[in-house]
Amino acid sequence: MAQPNSKNAIPYLLDMDGLGALISALVRQGRQVIGPSLADDAVIYDDIDSIADLPAGWGADQSAGHYRLKRRDDQALFGYGLAPQGWKRQLYPPRQKLFAARRQDSGFAVEPPPPPPPPLALIGVRACELAAIDRQAKVFGDRSYADPGYQSRLANAFIVAVQCAEAQATCFCAAMGTGPEVSHGYDIKLTEIFVQKHHGFVAEAGTPQGAKLLKALKAPAAGAAEIKAAGLAVKNAARQDKHLDAEAARKLSAQPDHPRWDKVAERCLSCGNCTMVCPTCFCTTVEDVTDLKGDNAERWRKWDSCFTMDFSYIHGGAVRTETRSRYRQWITHKLSTWVDQFGEQGCVGCGRCTTWCPVGIDITEEAAAITGQERI
Ligand code: SF4
Ligand code: SF4
Repeated sequence: MAQPNSKNAIPYLLDMDGLGALISALVRQGRQVIGPSLADDAVIYDDIDSIADLPAGWGADQSAGHYRLKRRDDQALFGYGLAPQGWKRQLYPPRQKLFAARRQDSGFAVEPPPPPPPPLALIGVRACELAAIDRQAKVFGDRSYADPGYQSRLANAFIVAVQCAEAQATCFCAAMGTGPEVSHGYDIKLTEIFVQKHHGFVAEAGTPQGAKLLKALKAPAAGAAEIKAAGLAVKNAARQDKHLDAEAARKLSAQPDHPRWDKVAERCLSCGNCTMVCPTCFCTTVEDVTDLKGDNAERWRKWDSCFTMDFSYIHGGAVRTETRSRYRQWITHKLSTWVDQFGEQGCVGCGRCTTWCPVGIDITEEAAAITGQERI
């Protein structure tokens, strides 16, 4: 995976053919290339083969409890904000077989693990998403309970980051210090620009691997006008209406009896959508399955959510039986106790939990109400 950083990288100018050649080169490397594409009335991250799969001319309106695709008045390829789910799906799959055992004459034999999947190439990773990948890398890498699968998927991935040129109504990465500028964690960084009638990308390498690939494309150096346009695009994306006082939110854990927990519980459906779309949530459960004859057994790891009753089940019953306590657990961990565990907040300001909450509960509003930071 990419390391910091590219202060001295030469900015190149890629046109559409150049971007197409970049994707083709990654395909030729034998990588599974994942990028934005249209499906199910949304822009999702899925397998792509070429530039033709990208959502040219599509944007999306996102606000609390609301997501709708919309046509843009240009042919931007990365003008859609964020997909419903981030790169967690690729780096930390929702269902994973941990092992399988088959009955033999002499007892059970554990099946050898399957061959490793092809390395990934992730196209269109946003600054907040890189920050989320960092957060999960800490969870799965730096501590006593490392996940070698996550580590190797990430270590072998080639990351093409794309800087945002505009913010959605739910974005607050600027407040969380995670975006919109991409500063580290990428192999190649792109900024989509429109200069006069030319549509293209300012491209910078963040690693030797990225530099080698860009050089092989034989793209021209970006000119002053293109570099300026790229800078303005990122500045534009930093204009965000949503705000979260990260320092104040640290104190959420000191408010276990705040009346707002009851208010939010009146709306919250305990559906767990917020945890499924959150790029940093990492909770799982483990399920053992056998066939009826008892000859085959498998152990699966599946995403779980702190909003389910079973998640807090311990001897004698569930600890968090009420919605108020589940919502409190989620937001307090995200913004407060995550810092105690990992030294930074577990929220990167992507706004997905707000967009995809069916009743439009907004994490920034709840945090502000409980910590007394409500804007007048
Ligand atoms: S808590 Fe919400 S805004 Fe923060 S990272 Fe998760 S989904 Fe994004
Ligand atoms: S906050 Fe919204 S998305 Fe999360 S569990 Fe409650 S209703 Fe579902």
